[in-house]
Amino acid sequence: MRSAIVCTARAGLGYASRRPASLAPKFIYHSSRTLSATPSRREEEGRKWSTPLAKQLAEAINITGPIPLASYMRMCLTADVGGYYTGAIEAGRDQFGPKGDFITSPEISQVFGELIGIWFVAEWMSQGRPRSGVELIEVGPGRGTLMDDILRTIRNFKDMASAIDAVYMVEASKELRVAQKNLLCGEDAAMRESKEGWHSTCKYSDLPIVWSDSIKAVPHNSSKTPFIVAHEFFDALPIHAFQVVEVPPTQQPVTSSGSSPSASTTTLFPTRQWREMVVSPTPEGTTHADLGTPKSLQHERVPEFQLTLSPSKTRHASYLPESSPRYRALRSIPDALIEVCPDASLYASDFATRIGGSEAKPKPRPSGAALILDYGPADTIPMNSLRGIRHHARVSPFADPGLVDLSADVDFLALVETVTRASEGVECHGPIDQAHFLESMGIAQRAEMLTKKVVDINKKSEIERAWKRLVDRGPGGMGKVYKALAILPENGGRRRPVGFGGDVST
Ligand code: SAH
Repeated sequence: MRSAIVCTARAGLGYASRRPASLAPKFIYHSSRTLSATPSRREEEGRKWSTPLAKQLAEAINITGPIPLASYMRMCLTADVGGYYTGAIEAGRDQFGPKGDFITSPEISQVFGELIGIWFVAEWMSQGRPRSGVELIEVGPGRGTLMDDILRTIRNFKDMASAIDAVYMVEASKELRVAQKNLLCGEDAAMRESKEGWHSTCKYSDLPIVWSDSIKAVPHNSSKTPFIVAHEFFDALPIHAFQVVEVPPTQQPVTSSGSSPSASTTTLFPTRQWREMVVSPTPEGTTHADLGTPKSLQHERVPEFQLTLSPSKTRHASYLPESSPRYRALRSIPDALIEVCPDASLYASDFATRIGGSEAKPKPRPSGAALILDYGPADTIPMNSLRGIRHHARVSPFADPGLVDLSADVDFLALVETVTRASEGVECHGPIDQAHFLESMGIAQRAEMLTKKVVDINKKSEIERAWKRLVDRGPGGMGKVYKALAILPENGGRRRPVGFGGDVST
């Protein structure tokens, strides 16, 4: 067990975060291709696929036709057979750290999780220090490092620690649930299965820890005070991608009077419509030039799958781009691209309802808070942001399905819109740059305290480099690319949370 004070910058300073500067440039995945190039069934039968999941996807697409990007992404990340997070991982392989594919902030420096722990303590104080009914909920906890740092920090605030009823961990991966249990409860601790999920007991106290694979399985009780954290979770949720196309008049008869079309009176206009990007196998013999692969990826094999624009209107295209005024405003712009993440809306509205209540689930007194940390633009709609990462390098998201980490930029304003729509009892603060958040939370001072306790000069400079990486404001730096968004009980904007311009009010 690591002590509260001794330590460190964690392994992997030289390794890539999921959104490193060098991986940032975006490219369009050849959206203008039509589907005429989809391979025939015969062509597919003799083909050797890179992974069992690739074969399964190709077979399914042969039957159903090209699938939405979101379906492809969901299968690649969380399919039972061979999903990146959920498939059986060969012994010793890990998504995180030097031997894995990427590194995340809690794995870079313990200071990150400690400051998030402090953020929740400050919120608990500002909300009248409830003596019971507090819950900690983390979605997408990875190795469990962040929750471990949060719990270790909260342990120093005895009244808050004893107010916590339970910790809930929402995790799709069986392997990662076990890794989290080992870290938070000890390797020898048992994990008991029940209807609600998997249970064990925290090594720091006898706090129950409950795992589930979906937020829906976490009990929703309006008398509780939930403190929710999501770090690099939303970027792993499947996105749909759409593009505006101009549909020629011959396909879209419009009458001058607006009534039903008739051959003699019809005035024909081109119209702009949203079309969905869909995934299908790449025909054998396709070259990088055909696909428009960026130069930096041309040394790889040609990906087995391709993203193309659906030639006709799909079900999702008829309602998702109409679901927000932000998307609707772009329909008049030729070739406009948007990414929409319905799962992000489900999670964000769940958080809002737990904190602020809703008509269906009233809460007499809003309480709790959520902190979402992830990468994405502060105020624009993401486009072409899907990326694949493997062994700390950028790879095509359409190669080796299940072996490549896929992620996409988070649309923070879409989260704010969803949250405020879901509950009148909440308000949002941010998004603000991670650098701003961590600096106002006192990262420099906390790191200085740590370095003072360390004698080894190399360790000292490791700690220094690690925390500075988290707040790096250079182009593509983590301090600028990553953002923080807070959801609080509605207070008419009178109280700002710490890290977002506010002080602790007790
Ligand atoms: N928060 C961690 C891990 C980020 S990686 C960190 O910062 O280190 C994304 C995490 O979300 C992994 O734990 C992954 O298994 C989990 N995850 C991805 N998609 C999920 C889903 N649909 N439901 C639940 N967990 C998911």
